[in-house]
Amino acid sequence: MKILVINCGSSSLKFQLLDMNDESFLAKGIVERIGSEGSSITYETQKTGKIKNCESAINHTEAAGLVFRYLADEKNGVIKDINEIDAIGHRLVHGGEEYSSSVIIDDKVIEALKKYSVFAPLHNPANILGIEACRNLLPDIPMAGTFDTAFHQTMPDYAYMYALPYSIYEKYRIRKYGFHGTSHRYVSGIAAKALNKSNTKIITCHLGNGSSVCAVCNGKSIDTSMGYTPVDGLVMGTRCGDLDPAIVNFIEKEEHLTHNEVDEMLNKKSGVYGISGISNDFRDLENAMHSGNKRAKLALEIFDFRLRKYIGAYTAIMGGLDALVFTAGIGENDWETRYFACKDLEFLGIEIDENKNKTVRGNFADISLPDSKVRIYVIPTNEELMIARDTKELVSVLIS
Ligand code: ADP
Repeated sequence: MKILVINCGSSSLKFQLLDMNDESFLAKGIVERIGSEGSSITYETQKTGKIKNCESAINHTEAAGLVFRYLADEKNGVIKDINEIDAIGHRLVHGGEEYSSSVIIDDKVIEALKKYSVFAPLHNPANILGIEACRNLLPDIPMAGTFDTAFHQTMPDYAYMYALPYSIYEKYRIRKYGFHGTSHRYVSGIAAKALNKSNTKIITCHLGNGSSVCAVCNGKSIDTSMGYTPVDGLVMGTRCGDLDPAIVNFIEKEEHLTHNEVDEMLNKKSGVYGISGISNDFRDLENAMHSGNKRAKLALEIFDFRLRKYIGAYTAIMGGLDALVFTAGIGENDWETRYFACKDLEFLGIEIDENKNKTVRGNFADISLPDSKVRIYVIPTNEELMIARDTKELVSVLIS
């Protein structure tokens, strides 16, 4: 079974075609700057390597058409005909309180995406564009969707409620939803298998440009650091994370900013970028820190400090810890962040093997010392594979 995974943003469309017989990737890439001048496609297969071409894509339907043309191209394609694609799996962002697992996409799901656009105004409308583009071009192909929020629907009410007047929750469903759910589910599943025991307590650290931590108890998310929106929790590339809400009013007033401008500051001008004034990329920050830049050092220290707070807090709420998992761009590649996250946590049973930690890259690795009570894993995330697996399962039921 060949499954195409689509991840649609407002001006981009990421894709990956997987052969689910052996879960291998056949082709992947991204169409960028949809609707603008200078749109392009980046396309990659084992045979072609990465190719980037300027290609017109005035809307998402054209972008999807472009993807299908490349996939079935005589020279560089990986399929003879687009009808070889058995199903499409969409990465969806916000399913509100309605969706706790992946679903076959029908009109009801599209209505739900519209309804929850109020919670994810940039992402849900883009998800709808992706679904409609595929429907326009391949109306008969079955499609499924995996919500970023779904995995966290198992959080208990005392974890997801904010201590605001209850009517605010009743009226608007303002609560913690959490994000990166597909990644937390994927890596915690691999960690649970590696632990090979029942009753597992796992903390997963998805550390990328956007970062979140999740407490996973017996396979279920019981708390996560992102909240009502992805701006909450850890310090991120450009997002501030945890913040006293009174600061928002203060900045708005004193800096003469509109709500939207403050929102942009919290989401795009804060985080390690805002503190350092240099970059949101940890490679740049570490280079700057090692050359003596004090603000780069401070930005990284604030990031590490908050990450350690969450590790401590989540160990406490689970009453112990079996495994600590690092994933995504920083978690998979940055040994310094992993080192500082684990340093001095021996009292919690977290003991890192410093040599192994420095050498690991790109593969599953156990970087804890042999006697460490807590296993420390580096696990490359693969949200596309998780979406493709869910799609395969749902579609197989549909066609059997
Ligand atoms: P996104 O949230 O955009 O999916 P990724 O998970 O791809 O982000 O992570 C991107 C981030 O990972 C970069 O901004 C950078 O900070 C970090 N990163 C990537 N490679 C390295 C590396 N070799 N060393 C340190 N940090 C890295």
